[in-house]
Amino acid sequence: MKESFEELVKTVKQSVEKCPWHSRQTLEDCKEELQSELKELFEAIDKKDFKNLKEELGDLFYDVLATMFIAQKAGILDPKDVIESVNAKINRRKPWLFDENSNVDAKEASRIWHDVKAKEKSKIEVKR
Ligand code: MG
Repeated sequence: MKESFEELVKTVKQSVEKCPWHSRQTLEDCKEELQSELKELFEAIDKKDFKNLKEELGDLFYDVLATMFIAQKAGILDPKDVIESVNAKINRRKPWLFDENSNVDAKEASRIWHDVKAKEKSKIEVKR
C-alpha cells in the first residue's frame, strides 16, 4: 500500500504541475471537482454499488490530493504539514489506538474523542 500511495501522490503532483488543464486549476475550481466526486461516492453508497464505490473513493482521494498540491502551488500550505497535522490529531483524539492493553468500547472512544476535541477548541478560544 505504501508504494501505491507514494506512486499516486507523485502522479497527482505531476498532474498539477504539468497537465495543461490541471495546472490551471485554482483552489476555487477544486470545490466543484470535490463536490462532484463526493456526490458520485454518495450515489455508489446509496446504490450499494460496491464496484463503483472503489472507483469513486479513488476519484475523491485523487481530488483531495490534487487540492492539496494546488494549495501548495498557490503558496498556501505544505502537503507534508497537512498529513502531519491530521496524524497528530488522530493520535491526540484516539490515544487508546496505540495502547495494546487498552480495551475501549465505542461509547468510551466517542467520549475521549469529544473530550479531547473540546479541550483543543477551548485552547484555540483562549489564544484568540
Ligand atoms: Mg467519479
